[in-house]
Parts: sequence; C-alpha cells; structure tokens
Amino acid sequence: MTSHNAASWRNWAGNVAARPVRVRTPASTAEVAAEVTKAATDGLAVRMTGTGHSFTPAACTDGVLLNPGGLTAIRSVDAKAGLVTAEAGCPLYRLNEELHSHGLSLTNMGDIGVQTVAGATQTGTHGSGRASGGMAAQIAGLEMVLADGSIVTCSADEPRSGLFDAARVGLGALGVLTAVTFRVEPLFLLTAREEPMRWSELISRLPELLSDNEHFDFLWFPSSEGCLTKRNNRSPGPAHPLPRWRYWLDDEFLSNSVFGATCRLGHLAPPTIAALNWVASRALSARTYTDAAYKVFTSPRRVRFKEQEYAIPREHLADVLAEVRALFHRRDWLISFPIEVRVTPADDLWLSTASGRDSAYIAFHVYHPSPHDEYFRDTEAIMTAVGGRPHWGKMHTRDADYLRGVYPSFGDFLALRDKLDPDRRFGNAYLRQVLGS
Ligand SMILES: Cc1cc2nc3c(=O)[nH]c(=O)nc-3n(C[C@H](O)[C@H](O)[C@H](O)COP(=O)(O)OP(=O)(O)OC[C@H]3O[C@@H](n4cnc5c(N)ncnc54)[C@H](O)[C@@H]3O)c2cc1C
Repeated sequence: MTSHNAASWRNWAGNVAARPVRVRTPASTAEVAAEVTKAATDGLAVRMTGTGHSFTPAACTDGVLLNPGGLTAIRSVDAKAGLVTAEAGCPLYRLNEELHSHGLSLTNMGDIGVQTVAGATQTGTHGSGRASGGMAAQIAGLEMVLADGSIVTCSADEPRSGLFDAARVGLGALGVLTAVTFRVEPLFLLTAREEPMRWSELISRLPELLSDNEHFDFLWFPSSEGCLTKRNNRSPGPAHPLPRWRYWLDDEFLSNSVFGATCRLGHLAPPTIAALNWVASRALSARTYTDAAYKVFTSPRRVRFKEQEYAIPREHLADVLAEVRALFHRRDWLISFPIEVRVTPADDLWLSTASGRDSAYIAFHVYHPSPHDEYFRDTEAIMTAVGGRPHWGKMHTRDADYLRGVYPSFGDFLALRDKLDPDRRFGNAYLRQVLGS
C-alpha cells in the first residue's frame, strides 16, 4: 500500500477540490478493510475515489481518501457464464479491452471509457438504450467493505436484505466497493449512423427515431437549430471501422481540438457563439461505420466542461425539450456546448435515475471557465417541475427533501444506511446534502 499525507485532490472538471487528512492506496480488499477500521479508530471519515469524473463533490472527504490505483486488476472472466469480475478501481477501457480479447462485451455504456468500474456505477453512469439500461443495471454481484470493517458480497441470488438493490448505485454511502461483477454477452458489432438534422425534423421524428433504434441519442446546439443525431444498431458485420484519418479528423481534431478552440473563442467573444454553434453542428458531416460496441459507444473528451443532467419520465421528453427551447428564446444565453439527449428503460435499483420508470436524460454543459449559474438554475426548474432526478455525479442543487419525493425507495436506502453506517464513516458534505445526514 502506498500513502501520502494531506495531498489535495481535484476532479476532472477542476470545479471540486478536497484536502484529506491522509491518502492511501490499498492494494487488496484486506487493506481496504484495515483502512476503514483505522479510520474508525482515528474518528475519521473515509471515501474511495474513482478517476474524479464526477462534477459533484461526491468523492470528496476531509478524512481518509482511498485512491483506486492499487485495485485495478481483472479478477476473473467466465465466458460460459457471461460474467467478469473486476477490482473496483479498474478503468472501463481496460475492462473493455480484456472483454474484447475474450470475445465478450458489456451491453451498454456511456460516452467515455476512462472512469473506474466502481466510480461509474456508484453514480449511475448510463448511455442511451431502447431496452438496455445503465452500467449499474448490468451488475451481477459486488464485494464491499462495510463501516465495521467486515467484507461482504451481495448479488441477485444472495441479496442480503436490500444491499444489492441499494449498493449498485450506492453513492459510496454504504461501503467501499472492492470488486464488481458484470453480466456480459458475446462480443457484438454496432453500426453507427451519425448525421446532422434540423431541430424541427428531429422533434417531429423523435418517437420513430427512439423506437426504431437500439441506441439513439442526439446533440442539440441550443443557440442554433442544428442537431447531430446518432443511431447505433447491432450488425452481423463485417466490421468497417472509421479509417484512422477520419477518426483523427472527426473525433480528435473536430470534436476536441477545433471544438476546444471554438469554445475558447466563444468564451472570449460570446457574440460569435451562434455562428460557432451553426458551424459545429455541420462540421461533423454524416458518417456510417461498424465496429466493436465499446469503440462505438465511447470517444475521447478533451475539452473540459461543467455539466448538469436530469432524468425525466420518458413521456415528458418532447414537451420538456419544447420548454427548454422556449426558455432559450426568452434569454440571451450564448452557450457553445450542445445539449445531449438520451434514453434508458426502467430498472429496479433503488437510487438509479431510471428506478421504476422509462427515462429520458437531458444534459446541459458549459465550457469549464464559463458561468453556469443562471443556465443550470433555469433549466433545472424545468426538469424538477416534472419530477426530474439529477445525475448523482453531475451538478445540481437538489436536497434530501426533494429527492425523497422522486425516488420511491429513498426511505429504504436511508434505513439500510442507518443500519450499516450509523456513525457515517462514509459520510461527506455531498451525502449530507442529498441524503439529509
Ligand atoms: C468527460 C465526461 C464524460 C462523461 N460521460 C458520461 C456519460 O456518458 N454518462 C453518464 O452517466 N455519466 C457520464 N459522466 C459522469 C461520470 O461517468 C460519473 O460522474 C462517474 O461517477 C465518474 O466515475 P469516476 O471513476 O471518475 O468516479 P468519481 O467521480 O471519482 O467518484 C464517483 C463516486 O463513486 C464513489 N466511489 C468511487 N470508487 C468507489 C468505491 N470503490 N467504493 C465506493 N464508492 C466509490 C466516489 O466516492 C464518488 O461518490 C461523464 C463525466 C465526464 C467528466
């Protein structure tokens, strides 16, 4: 185990910092258990972080910060049973590569592949899916260290009175995850069809686009009428990956280098943003390619931003988007980043943003140094008016009183937490906000 003292920790976006009393890098489940026990002896709180890709202070602590870098191995791959077990700090890209080498794949995932398996699932990270849910919905089992230092496992077969329902999206509030087992499937290819579409056409075709595609999402540049649609559907092959030059041009140069430069320009000269939005929504021309699923789901994100994302009941999507558009017409906002829209089916995880309801996700971003207060506040009001649930890892202002009203199993989660962690060994300021203590 490696250790550091009083190091400061920052998240990816740079909007959250922590100054823990000590930082430790446990290299086994037993070392995690020892750290939790020692923290209790010293009267300190303890949190493990992932790669800091949350925009909320979910991972922060002023006590003991456990770095995930010593727990990154893949423990086992069982192709026959369709199960893979990875240590909590294993980055998603490593999991994907290992699965690929065994002819296996996750069913669905979000936009990037750099988070840790525990960090991604603890906040409910998701992509878009007509029938396939977020990453935590693919979990078959967990190993974790509880506040009393005990090491437990839970799974659908061995649910341990609610622990499995609660801990898959557990916000790190119930224990430190040390290993995550995912249900996986044989490797499959996705054909990606990406094309610009005008807002009016997209809205009129939205029901069809959502029902006809396994994974549909779109980016809407709100200071213009331009949208970029993405349809990903399973393909029997053969694979036709993007040529290297096209990948570099679109995903590295246009989506990151040029986009970063336009964001900087828009930040310095906001009146240029409408024109930049128009150019951005057309710069990436239509393209179709077929590749391994994880290569289609994820792409690099190098331009730093701040983000708020809400899950709303799916049936409200068109009306809510119309309200957001009307809001843009009333305001003089100039936002260089697109709004992203995705969907997932209902699941049964207590604190999943899709718990018990088919959901649509609307994500609002700003370039990292740009102000976000008014934009996020006014769009958040539209989301909360329809019972929206904030992504646990993305910026929001909701507290436990609000969240109790939008999560049917919120009380069950709090009761289990009271039982497992009465002294709030895993507590922090963010959990006091969202869980009430
Ligand atoms: C560029 C970018 C793209 C993104 N794309 C998407 C997307 O497509 N879809 C989506 O839903 N989200 C997305 N996110 C959000 C991101 O997936 C989540 O915030 C995720 O939680 C980050 O994982 P992490 O490994 O960085 O964890 P961190 O942010 O470091 O931690 C997240 C939480 O997990 C807890 N945690 C971490 N490890 C453990 C452990 N071992 N035991 C217990 N608790 C633990 C932490 O304490 C914290 O509460 C994106 C974020 C960024 C910056």
